[in-house]
Amino acid sequence: MARNRWLYAVYVCLCLLLVGGSLIIMITDREAGQREHAAVRGELTLTEDDLLNFDSIWLDGEWEFYANELLLPGQFRRTAERLREDQYIRVPGSWHGHVVQGQTLTSKGYATYRLVLRVPDTGKQLGILLRPIYSTYRLWINGELVAQAGKVGTSRAEVKPFIAPKVVRLHPADGLAEIVIQVANFSQRKAGLFSPPELGEYDALNHLLTRKLVVESVLIGIILIIGFNHLLRFVLMPQNKDSLFFGLICMFLGIKNTAQGQYSLALFFPELSNNVYVTIEYIGFMAAPPLFTLFIYHAFPGMMSRRVRDVLLIPGACFLLIVLFAPVHIYTQMAVPMQIYAVLVALLLIHYVLLSAIRKLEGARLLLFGATVFFVTILIDILISNGSVVKTGTFFPFGLIFMIVCMDIILSMRFANAYRMIERLSGRLLDLDRLKDEFLANTSHELRTPLNGMIGLAQSLLHSLQGKLDANQELHLNMIVSSGKRLSYLINDILDYSRLSNNDIRLQLASVNLHQLAQVVLTILKPLAAGRNLVLLNEVREDMPGVLADENRLEQILFNLLGNAVKYTPQGQITVGAIEHAEHVEIYVSDTGIGIPEDKFESIFRPFEQLDKLDETGTGLGLKITKQLVELHGGSIKVESRLGQGSRFSFTIPYAEGMLRIAGNSLTSRMSPCFASLPSPPPGGRRRNFRNA
Ligand code: ADP
Repeated sequence: MARNRWLYAVYVCLCLLLVGGSLIIMITDREAGQREHAAVRGELTLTEDDLLNFDSIWLDGEWEFYANELLLPGQFRRTAERLREDQYIRVPGSWHGHVVQGQTLTSKGYATYRLVLRVPDTGKQLGILLRPIYSTYRLWINGELVAQAGKVGTSRAEVKPFIAPKVVRLHPADGLAEIVIQVANFSQRKAGLFSPPELGEYDALNHLLTRKLVVESVLIGIILIIGFNHLLRFVLMPQNKDSLFFGLICMFLGIKNTAQGQYSLALFFPELSNNVYVTIEYIGFMAAPPLFTLFIYHAFPGMMSRRVRDVLLIPGACFLLIVLFAPVHIYTQMAVPMQIYAVLVALLLIHYVLLSAIRKLEGARLLLFGATVFFVTILIDILISNGSVVKTGTFFPFGLIFMIVCMDIILSMRFANAYRMIERLSGRLLDLDRLKDEFLANTSHELRTPLNGMIGLAQSLLHSLQGKLDANQELHLNMIVSSGKRLSYLINDILDYSRLSNNDIRLQLASVNLHQLAQVVLTILKPLAAGRNLVLLNEVREDMPGVLADENRLEQILFNLLGNAVKYTPQGQITVGAIEHAEHVEIYVSDTGIGIPEDKFESIFRPFEQLDKLDETGTGLGLKITKQLVELHGGSIKVESRLGQGSRFSFTIPYAEGMLRIAGNSLTSRMSPCFASLPSPPPGGRRRNFRNA
């Protein structure tokens, strides 16, 4: 326990160090003042060395800023008049909060930016990469209009926002380039040059933009595919709630990134209104904290209480409703509370993941690692956007994808472990099933001898004491005999079932006279039909060719089918017959009994399946054993029936003649695989005692 607390403390200290250190760097960097290549008082002078040493240079620093004015290149009176302090603004940044003549600007409005760039001629074609400018602009270089996005205007009605990155050519005249940008914003919380324009070689900048587009698209593609995969997993196995929430996280974040980066979505839907981009971005942003909460709740059960979960979910749900139903300019003003909510949720979730990792819950450490990497990339991005670190790419998407891949690995690992566990358990179940069968067979076997002894003793008592017993004693002895016999049939059925299941029955095949066999079975069953208006008919031709079967087993089959027919036919007729086909004989047993519902045609052949539970003499094993025996003979069995009208069971069996003739004694050649290991038929058959006999 003490060790766990230590681990927790060390991790928290490391995080604090990281965050604190970054903040200190940011603050000291701000105090250190301007960056080396930053504009001062609306002018930026670059040397040939600057252009040679850097791939691209941010045009940041102090730009001239004319609030509430849309000026054209020819309208600047800078040389004649000195500009006021508040007519310079720091780029990158929003004009929101900038004070002009005592008045604090809101994000809504319009303004003109101007920068004079002194740049030596290196003979290379220069260009400027314009990152998203919020939320519409027009750009002139040396008096020539070279780019515009959306429609600039002085009112919400006039302005048509459009945000998309672009590269424009820069042709300095005598080493001088005057850059004038008109910007208008009435919908976004950030307004103006929030990201700095970037100067570099025209082709290199274009290349950079394409690379960004490709990287962004690939990352988004990966996130969406992973998300889709997990959603599919949830559809197939709805108990995997963590897959559902992880899939949704991926989907929302993927879609959010298409809108946020503006590189990919804008390429496919250039006409889409900016408000749609903003709404998608905000929905993705606000869906993430609740979904992450639900993911952690389900992925590490027992760590987070329901109450904490609900407390974390409610603000997210409210924010989502606002984003869905309020206008863009309202909910973009709520970005700060939303960010605070997201950060608080993130911290709490990290706390739970950390606790799960300490308790060694499956996958928690990997998730902690992924989340840490993700937060480090966010910090690096924050530092970059504050100009404290050397210019690099944006790390956030890589951090995100790293964390998502970690989560994907965790869920896949769990999936694989669950699969392995199922395999282990099903192996164990099969073992137990075998043990159960063995136990059943052994016990039945052990019961059979004493039981037969008891029946025999009771029968001999009845016989020897005939006339000396009173009616009550005789009745009791008869009950012992009949109950004992019923038990004995059950034991025989269980033993047969178990032997058939284990392929433990060997057929003694020979040519069997079907007419005679049917007659024997009908004779045995006749007493059972006595007292009922029931006719038993043998329609098997006397001169029919013999069939290839184990006589005792074929008798057992007929006995089961005819026995059932007698049991379930109160009156009418029961017929046994045979139809001679070219390849085999079809033997049928039909009755005019109660019939079987069509939807039960399959289930009656399953073990212990009884439709008529009131029948106490049956075990529900008869038809299962019959089917197995028919199949063992290489045939098949089917049933046709109509409720209230009767049933017809029919099965096939091969002819004996053709089979026995082929290759002398080799029965195996034309027969089903189940015959392959059978011994050659012995002379004569074996008699068995059947139930109800
Ligand atoms: P049981 O030993 O209980 O008769 P079976 O496996 O032989 O078990 O039969 C399964 C069920 O199929 C029976 O419980 C009965 O409901 C139904 N069944 C079998 N044969 C007939 C028939 N000829 N007519 C109506 N129902 C039948």
